[in-house]
This record gives sequence, C-alpha cells and structure tokens, in this order.
Amino acid sequence: MNIDKYTETIKACRFCFMCRHLSAIGNVTFTEADTPRVRASMLYGVTMFPERLTSDDLVKTMYRSDLSACCRRNCVNHYEENALNLAYRADLVEAGAVPENIKAIAAELKGMPAWSVSGKGEVVYVADNYSVQSGAAAAFAKLAGGVQTVKGGSCGKGLWVLGFREEARKMAQTFVDVLESTGAATVVVSHTGIYDLLVNTLLEMGLSLKAKVMHSSEYLAKIKTAKKLGKVYYLESDFLRNYNDDYPFPKAVLETNGAMLQPFGTNDEESYSCGEGALLLDKIEPELVEKLAKYIEARADNPSNDVIVVASPYTKVQLKKYTSLNVKTIEELLAEAL
Ligand code: SF4
Repeated sequence: MNIDKYTETIKACRFCFMCRHLSAIGNVTFTEADTPRVRASMLYGVTMFPERLTSDDLVKTMYRSDLSACCRRNCVNHYEENALNLAYRADLVEAGAVPENIKAIAAELKGMPAWSVSGKGEVVYVADNYSVQSGAAAAFAKLAGGVQTVKGGSCGKGLWVLGFREEARKMAQTFVDVLESTGAATVVVSHTGIYDLLVNTLLEMGLSLKAKVMHSSEYLAKIKTAKKLGKVYYLESDFLRNYNDDYPFPKAVLETNGAMLQPFGTNDEESYSCGEGALLLDKIEPELVEKLAKYIEARADNPSNDVIVVASPYTKVQLKKYTSLNVKTIEELLAEAL
C-alpha cells in the first residue's frame, strides 16, 4: 500500500498532539478525528487490519482534510502527515472503494474541455477557471501586457489530490504537451495549486517541463506601482508557504510597492486559506469551506475596512462567496495601484 511509505510518520503522529491547533478543519469542526494524530491512529489500525481501509468514518475523515501542510511545516521533525493523507486516498482508489461523490468530482475533472492557446510571446500565462473568476487573470493581463495564454482545461492536480494518480499523470502529460507546444521559455501561473503541480507534483509523476515556472508574484517582482499599497493583511498560501519552503515573492512584491503588512489572526502558523491545499474541498464538503471562511472573517481586525490580499485565486473566490471581507488577489491590488 502507498501508506506503507509513511510508517515512520504513522508511528510518530499517532501519539503526538503538538500540531492539533494547526488543523484548519479541526478548528471548525472541533473533532479530534480531524488532526494528524487521530488520522495516523486510524491508519495504524489499517496497517494491522487492512479491511479497515474502506471504513466509512475513515474515508470521510480523509477526504475532508484541508491538506494545508501547516502541521508538517511546523512539526519539529516535519513528519509527512500531509503526504500520508494523499497516499491513503491513492490506496482507496487502487482498492476501487472511492465513494460516489468523489467519483463524480473526478468525472467532472475528466470531462473538462481541452486547453486552448492564444496570443504571442516568450511567456505563457495559465488562465485557469479560478484565476479568471477571482479577477487575477484580468489584472495580470493589465500588468504584464503581451503574453500567450492557455485557458479552459484541467491540469491533473485535482485528480492527483483525489487519489486518481494514473489518470492524473495522463492529464498532466497533456497539460505539459500544451505548454510545450507554445514554445514559451517561461510559464506563469496565479493558481497556487497549478504552481505546485508544475514544480513538485510533475516530478512525483515522473514528468517534466522544460520551461521555467513562476507564480505571478515572482514574474511581477520588478513592477513599480504609482501609488503605495499601504496597510494590508496578507493571508499566506498553503501551496506557496507550506509546500514550497516559504516562497518569498508574494510578500516581497507587496513590500516593494509600499505595502505595510499587518499580522492577521492569532499566530503566523495557521492556514487562513479556506482549504486551498485540498483544491476541491468546495466540491467535496462546501459547508466546511463556508465554516473556514467564517473562521477567517471572525479574525479580521475591522472586517468592513481591512484590505485582505491573497496569492491564491481559490482563496479569494471562497472568501468573496461566504464573507463580506474586502479581499483582493495580489495581481488586482498591484493593477489598481499602477
Ligand atoms: S506532524 Fe509532527 S507535530 Fe504533528 S502530530 Fe505528527 S509528529 Fe506531532
């Protein structure tokens, strides 16, 4: 089983409660099951009694995880509690025991249209649906000018996160082929999950992309706005901070343009992303995403006036849907201040 690669993590986490306060889902459900300790305890049970792999409680718990990787990042030994969760999902797919709601989401991803390519240039921007819906793609176009754009398709990361690894690999290969067909030397993305796919998950899949990959905040690092950005609250991205070693560009481009970054919430370790790392939590359990959004709203100093800025288009879409917070993507904030 895939979870057997994480025996050390299972054994360490099942008796440890040190990171329980960083489980975003646990913080809104108040259930012990939604912590690395109890997830590891349940999976230890699976290693002794394999028939427990498909128990209803375990399946539901593992598919409602926020996958923020906050616990791994802040663990003194960086135990792979996040990768363990993903490995379990892959085991469930291999066992043919995926619940119907997850199969339906996978079918939706597989049924998405093909990517289309437009424009000219040495740079290609990925205008996925979240980047378009959040306003990040339009703002990026205003800031960056003439680039090629690919839009409309699915990249394979969603299927990977759901556990459908072989189908995810095929879909990712198609995405790589489309990007390489543009001949662009640089690929820029606003979607933080697609960034993680291109710099990390492709390697796990045994795939590669020749072009240099940048999140939009890195590509825009040299931009200079006419107006100073002023006092803003930056909500960290799970993928950029926790999966990618505290990727520095989001905060750097904000500070370069006069942003005075304010501390948000009660600590700088938690995930305030509405389940960004899980990618599809808004389709799996939307009521949990609403709770996560309300949890964030409750921590704003002045919800009606504070300017909240995010690197993740997914997070902006969810916060706009469920709260009245004044939230913008980095691209939008920069474009407004040009
Ligand atoms: S990830 Fe680290 S801190 Fe969290 S339960 Fe496991 S061993 Fe403990």
